[in-house]
Amino acid sequence: MSTLRFHAVKESLAYKPVHIEEKERRSDLFGKNVFNENTMRQYLTKDAFNGVMNAISHGKKIDRSIADQVSSSMKDWALSKGVTHYTHWFQPLTGATAEKHDAFFETIGGGMAIEKFGGDQLVQQEPDASSFPNGGIRNTFEARGYTAWDPTSPAFIYQTTLCIPTIFVAYTGEALDFKTPLLRALNAVDTAATAVCRYFDKNVKKVTSSLGWEQEYFLIDKMLAASRPDITLTGRTMLGHSAAKGQQLDDHYFGSIPNRALNFMRELETECMLLGIPVKTRHNEVAPNQFELAPIYEEANLAVDHNSLLMDLMGRVASRHNFKVLFHEKPFAGMNGSGKHNNWSLSTDTGVNLLGPGKTPMSNLQFLTFFINTIKAVYKHEALLRASVASASNDHRLGASEAPPAIMSVFIGEQLTKVLDELEGVTKGKLSPQEKTELKLNVIGKIPDVLLDNTDRNRTSSFAFTGNKFEFRAVGSTANCGNPMTVLNTIVAKQLKDFKVEVDALINKKDLKKDEAVFNVLREYIKDTKAILFEGNGYGKPWEVEAKKRGLSHNKTTPEALSAKISKETIDLFEEMNVMSRVETQARYEIEMEAYSKHIQIEGRVLGDIARNHIVPTAIKYQNILIKNVRGLKEIFEEKYHDVSKEQVLLIEEISNHIAGINSNVTKMVDQRRKANAIADIEKRALAYAKKVKPLFDDIRYHCDKLEMLVDDEIWPLTKYRELLFTR
Ligand code: ADP
Ligand code: MG
Repeated sequence: MSTLRFHAVKESLAYKPVHIEEKERRSDLFGKNVFNENTMRQYLTKDAFNGVMNAISHGKKIDRSIADQVSSSMKDWALSKGVTHYTHWFQPLTGATAEKHDAFFETIGGGMAIEKFGGDQLVQQEPDASSFPNGGIRNTFEARGYTAWDPTSPAFIYQTTLCIPTIFVAYTGEALDFKTPLLRALNAVDTAATAVCRYFDKNVKKVTSSLGWEQEYFLIDKMLAASRPDITLTGRTMLGHSAAKGQQLDDHYFGSIPNRALNFMRELETECMLLGIPVKTRHNEVAPNQFELAPIYEEANLAVDHNSLLMDLMGRVASRHNFKVLFHEKPFAGMNGSGKHNNWSLSTDTGVNLLGPGKTPMSNLQFLTFFINTIKAVYKHEALLRASVASASNDHRLGASEAPPAIMSVFIGEQLTKVLDELEGVTKGKLSPQEKTELKLNVIGKIPDVLLDNTDRNRTSSFAFTGNKFEFRAVGSTANCGNPMTVLNTIVAKQLKDFKVEVDALINKKDLKKDEAVFNVLREYIKDTKAILFEGNGYGKPWEVEAKKRGLSHNKTTPEALSAKISKETIDLFEEMNVMSRVETQARYEIEMEAYSKHIQIEGRVLGDIARNHIVPTAIKYQNILIKNVRGLKEIFEEKYHDVSKEQVLLIEEISNHIAGINSNVTKMVDQRRKANAIADIEKRALAYAKKVKPLFDDIRYHCDKLEMLVDDEIWPLTKYRELLFTR
């Protein structure tokens, strides 16, 4: 009997849900462990408070004396909550979060000690960061990078540590994390969008980008997950025959949440409340054991931090409930994968959502301006946007089982399609008073302020307008949202900047009125961007063929997609918008390309190991049982044994064929890996992994999965899909 597998199944069946008590109201818990505005009011002097608020709202520098006051108050607050350590909390390009804890405790001589936390320690730290990915920016012998306080994301207490959100940069100034370019992109979009808003409302001084992510994940029993080397090492199953029942019946989607999972969620949500993460919805997803968690949307930088923090938190809370969280985009073949839809919008400091239709024609013209500019930005930079969600794991999801394909397209719904059609007919140049009235009354005046039909339910559009926001659905569940959010905000910023130049030119040179100029530019944009608009089903061949005709890129693998990250256009774009220098752009590209190769390399090793060391020996064991059986039959039946052992002999042969299939393909794969590793050029190496190594995974898997169906269940060593997915 396969001991580990059956032991794991037994343990998981015997498992009792952890008891959870929710004593306090969520609203009372909310933000209790966050040094937020409310806490700052209590703990800071007026000067210090104003200093921090100015930094948050206007990006003003915080001077030394203020930093000293803030750090001292933060320390008092943290100590009052039993905190002993502090850390700069940042998001290096590994995709995980990083922290290095220091105690407040310091000796002061004479056998005495105090708790100390000065402005210096708050503002800047120098973690020994030589082993974080840097794409060659820092020479390792120098190994100097520093973290610097980001006052726009509040400090928080996690367990017994005060965490200070920071950026992470090299001493030479280049960004080494996800946050730094994101902050620059948010700044760029603020500047560009504010300038455009002022055509419509002179009171607007700031535009903020919002993000509401929806985190999908699988919950698997911890013991069962641990019994699978592929889940342990790669976060997904690399083999395994599908269960007799999968998601065909759709009985999991929005069904009642199993108790054990529910208790996990309740504890997780309590922790989120304390950390000020405004989680709101939870529900089952399509596949068995798949769930989703979504917060109320927040300012994008904070939302990105909260998502990173949440992912970390989920792992820890899950462990207490004997679960393992799988964030992988495709943990189970043949089942729905997990994504992280990024709901995105822009809003003004006057309280207007620029992507929500308004009540007056003028506010709707503003809405259409931002709406159409976003579409144009996506069209112009579709390949870069695709690259922003590229990863080895997301490659499995894009284009499979109802996920959006690796083709970027924009869904806008029937009503807005009609509006754009009408605007396309606007007269060139000056508009007659009648036309203006007609437009105001019957076109933009007719956009209802709530667009309820605007939910593209088939979910295969990669970028969908859903009433008052765009939903970027190609983002993968493992992603740090910083990456796609940096790209999206940058391309929109650039587009708005160009738009303003064009409108101003019409006003100044052609003597057009402001709204005439806006109508004229938008008309041309509508004509130019038709190829990116798509309302149909994005799943499958027909759209692939059509997208190709339309000239849209379709990069199925990460190495192919990433090339858009270092095109001249991209480098110029990031430089112009002050988001990333050429060196930073190049470094990120290299890091991601390398990460891809390493990822596939590890998967290849894991699969080769399982196939040869677990599957083949088990198949041989079972084959030997069959051989013994045939021999026995021969003894009993003598001449007649051919007839009675026919099926067994066929099975023996079939098993041999699959064993041979495994061995030859593993040998081929090892050989291809060796060849790929010998390639010095990172792009060519990654391509070799994508095109030569990875396809062999399917061949190896095919034979293993066939054997799973042939070999006696009692001796099969790997926990099966039905056990992983249906053990509660
Ligand atoms: P669905 O599952 O139908 O896509 P959900 O209601 O689960 O939608 O999630 C929608 C997400 O969009 C939530 O995180 C919500 O806070 C967010 N959201 C709503 N309005 C906006 C907005 N104006 N800007 C950004 N995000 C938004
Ligand atoms: Mg969604």
